[in-house]
Amino acid sequence: MSRIFNFSAGPAALPLAVLEQVQSEMLEWNGTGASVMEVSHRGAPFMQAAAQAEQDLRDLMHIPDNYKVLFLQGGATSQFSAIPLNLKHLGGSADYAHTGHWSKKAIADAKRFIDVNVVCDTSEEGYKHVPAESSWALSDDSAYLHITPNETIAGVEFDWLPDVNVPICADLSSTILSRPIDVAKYGIIYAGAQKNIGPAGLTIVIVRDDLIGHFPDDAPRLMDYQVMAESDSMNNTPPTFAWYLAGKVFAWLKSNGGVEAVAEVNRAKAEKLYSYIDGSDGFYTNPVAVDSRSWMNVPFILANSDLDAEFLAGSHDAGLHALKGHRSVGGMRASIYNAMPMAGIDSLLDFMDQFKAKHR
Ligand code: PMP
Repeated sequence: MSRIFNFSAGPAALPLAVLEQVQSEMLEWNGTGASVMEVSHRGAPFMQAAAQAEQDLRDLMHIPDNYKVLFLQGGATSQFSAIPLNLKHLGGSADYAHTGHWSKKAIADAKRFIDVNVVCDTSEEGYKHVPAESSWALSDDSAYLHITPNETIAGVEFDWLPDVNVPICADLSSTILSRPIDVAKYGIIYAGAQKNIGPAGLTIVIVRDDLIGHFPDDAPRLMDYQVMAESDSMNNTPPTFAWYLAGKVFAWLKSNGGVEAVAEVNRAKAEKLYSYIDGSDGFYTNPVAVDSRSWMNVPFILANSDLDAEFLAGSHDAGLHALKGHRSVGGMRASIYNAMPMAGIDSLLDFMDQFKAKHR
């Protein structure tokens, strides 16, 4: 077996221990004589696995009892519409921070359902920092504030929360479970699963109880948090395999010391990579302001972009895959979610250093 180090932004690397366990259960799961994909979501074995996954996520994130945890489909993108639809009864407009590609998409979708007030916008500079809250043009009568604490493409991140009286809705797709957060400070947290949770096809929504129950009659029923909460996310067939596998990832994380422990590893991984980039005498650069750098997605540019193709081919041959940066940023991007071990960072740095030595 030769497993690569997979730096993909998503779908992204999964923990090897989880994949091995899933492999061992593939043909015969949990006494059912079938794979988990072949049994009813309403049968006891799946219902138990689903409930356990939810409990483990609650434990990992210390989710208070007055929050529902929903296991949905549609990707994080579906929540760009679901949030304004579920919350627009709270006010005529909503505040949105525009700090990257994904917040821009969230704004575009929200505009179809609610007036959007953009509180800050870094698109003209190409998303290189997150402006301080003191410069945000927050409105007085917004229904909620939407933020994207980690922008996966630009690698721009902020882990502070603005001081507002309205519910904060946060797209945590690429940063959920990477470090402890205080869930009670949010109204809604959502995330596509395919980075730090499990396979694509599952979307987690964590929503405070009082924000549920005011959905418009003329909007798609499956976007109504009340419908999904009352049915334990089983109003229709849920993505059973993805849910099961997410449960395995949660259990793996718990057995490795939880979010608190993985956060230390994530901090060390990111620090090692950024400090190498910063110390490379400009051969590699990271375009993001130091205080806005992501722990999860690390873009880096080669001073000589003519070397990009050789870098990508060489790194691929060295077992370091999916390092090509997003086309809007160029260069490279290393996505280093929870499942990326320190050994992957060390291999990447070895390669980068050899490459630099060759081309200096
Ligand atoms: N938000 C963020 C921060 C993302 O990184 C992504 C996907 N890369 C999305 C939203 C869109 O997620 P999905 O493809 O699950 O709809």
